[in-house]
Amino acid sequence: MFYRKLKDKKVKCILCPRYCIISENKTGFCGVRKNVAGILQSLVYSKPCTINIDPLTKKPLYHFRPGTRCLSLGTVGCNLDCSYCQNSDISHPSGIFGEDLFPERVIELCKRYGSPGIAYTYNEPTIWIEYALDTMKLARKAGLYNVWVSNGYTNPEPAKEISKYLDAINVDVKGDTPFYSKLCGIPDEDPIKRSLLIYKKAGVHIEVTNLMIPGFNDKPEQVDKLVSWVAENLGKDTPFHFSRFFPHFRMRDTPITPIETLKMAEKIAKKHGIKHVHLGNV
Ligand code: SF4
Repeated sequence: MFYRKLKDKKVKCILCPRYCIISENKTGFCGVRKNVAGILQSLVYSKPCTINIDPLTKKPLYHFRPGTRCLSLGTVGCNLDCSYCQNSDISHPSGIFGEDLFPERVIELCKRYGSPGIAYTYNEPTIWIEYALDTMKLARKAGLYNVWVSNGYTNPEPAKEISKYLDAINVDVKGDTPFYSKLCGIPDEDPIKRSLLIYKKAGVHIEVTNLMIPGFNDKPEQVDKLVSWVAENLGKDTPFHFSRFFPHFRMRDTPITPIETLKMAEKIAKKHGIKHVHLGNV
């Protein structure tokens, strides 16, 4: 799904704003979408590498079906390149790995374990949209909920398609333009905000997370700007999670976020009228 054929058997993926142009036998930036004889194919369809039953609060989603635990799936790969990724072993794998698990079987597992819904999480579900969508459609029919944990780096057309079957989403809004270009390998945060507006318009329950990293996105003015955008565009009843950073991946020398920083952010969010502010990883 979501690609165009070009000359010389090349393809252009239009799933995310990277718009990778992919030659035959190569994969796009995310490593899981391959040009096979001029056709873009998903290498992770029905191939989750992580399957677990998690509390929804772990996503974090605190204001959607509170108290429930749901079947959670993730594959390998990612369309961002965050230097501090907490799941780098699956987002930047040396190859494709996972277990065969077709959408029908996911629904069966939900029934067997009494899971009321499915979370598409651990890595960015946008890059495995075909598998996610097929599973989401079956989940809807079976009366199960669908929640995504996403970086929001999705193009409008696929975001609208997802919205049709999506009940709730937590989007990690990581920081401002310099933050995204320095630490995540993309030019700016505009596509992420655009996706959030699409989910909002579609009536999806949204919660926002901001992982606060000392020296990169922890200035009061940065928090103020982000929170005021959320309050104005998504509404003051959008739950906001400020999360504590722990050294990881390429940023093992950066210190842990002091609790005081999270409390400062909480104060700013409350000043803007955000009703539900949660501090995470504490
Ligand atoms: S989804 Fe993957 S292949 Fe497609 S544009 Fe994004 S990074 Fe490139």
